[in-house]
This record gives sequence, structure tokens and C-alpha cells, in this order.
Amino acid sequence: MADLPSLAAFLDACPRCKLSASRTRIVFGQGNPNADLMFIGEAPGREEDEQGLPFVGPAGQLLTKIIEAMGTTREEVYIVNTVLCRPPNNRNPEPDEIAACRPFLEEQIRLVSPRAIVTLGAFAAQSVLDTGEPISQLRGRWHVAHGARVMPTFHPAFLLRSPKHKREVWEDMQKVRDYLAQQ
Ligand code: SF4
Repeated sequence: MADLPSLAAFLDACPRCKLSASRTRIVFGQGNPNADLMFIGEAPGREEDEQGLPFVGPAGQLLTKIIEAMGTTREEVYIVNTVLCRPPNNRNPEPDEIAACRPFLEEQIRLVSPRAIVTLGAFAAQSVLDTGEPISQLRGRWHVAHGARVMPTFHPAFLLRSPKHKREVWEDMQKVRDYLAQQ
């Protein structure tokens, strides 16, 4: 694809996995098309499915706070999910759905070409890094994939349930902030 709008148009009414049957709308990535920093979450939830925007529910509000604490804004970064359509009843995305949507995630990474990617939660980390390792093993250290440095961390929805893990996420985000501050 030549650019993100072309990819979004190509995906219109995408029927390539069974999530197409339950979604209200496809939730394409949002933000700066030339961002240095990309956040990749898991899957749209109810609010995202209704509004067609990623990370607009309570977890999204926490993500916004995290981004601003890093000294940047949602408009300066790019935010997308591992699967672009909402799983029914907010269940986890299934392997065949993640595999079906992976080319569209990878194409967004290629088009944005970020210097750093933060994956939020297990599904994003495992999809981006093409691994089955648990998030507890992956988070907090740099990986390299798709021409970018990748920092897996916990999902904001997990932090809402377990606030004691906020400190680890903040340590991860400081590493990302410091890396991006280097020329
Ligand atoms: S999740 Fe991805 S592959 Fe599945 S229908 Fe939606 S856009 Fe298509």
C-alpha cells in the first residue's frame, strides 16, 4: 500500500476472519502517520467498536496518561491494536484471528516506520515478536523486530485491575522515552 488511507480503504468491510461477523466497525490505527513511537494493544473493546477509534475506554484514558507522562501526546504517536475488530464479549483474540490480521498490523508498522514500538499485553508482544514466550518473560527489555526496537509492557486494562504493576510499566516507558531522546 502507498499510505495508511489506502490501507484503510482496502480493509473496508474486511471479511478475512470471523471477527467480521460481530464487529460494528473496523478500528484502524490512529495518530501521527510518521510517528517515532507506536503503541500496539490487543483488540478493540465496546467503546472502540462503537466509535471506530482505538483506546477510547477506561484503558485508553490510562494509556493517554502514560503517553503524556512520557512527555508526548496521543497526536504525536500512533496507536493500533493487534486485531482491528472487536472480539465478541471482549474475549481474547484467537490465533487464527491474530494470524489473519497480522499482515495489516505489519503493513501499518511498515508505513509508519516508527523508531520504537511499545506492545501492550501478551497478544501484541507475541504477535509482533512472533513468539510464544509469556509477557512476564518478554516485558521490560528491548527486542528488535520490523526495523524497530520493541518494548513489551503490560496492557493498561491489566493495570486497572492490578495497579501495583504501574511502577514496572513506568520503568519500561522511561527506557522508551530515553531511547527516543537520543539522536
Ligand atoms: S480482525 Fe482484521 S482480519 Fe479479521 S475481519 Fe477485522 S480487519 Fe479483517
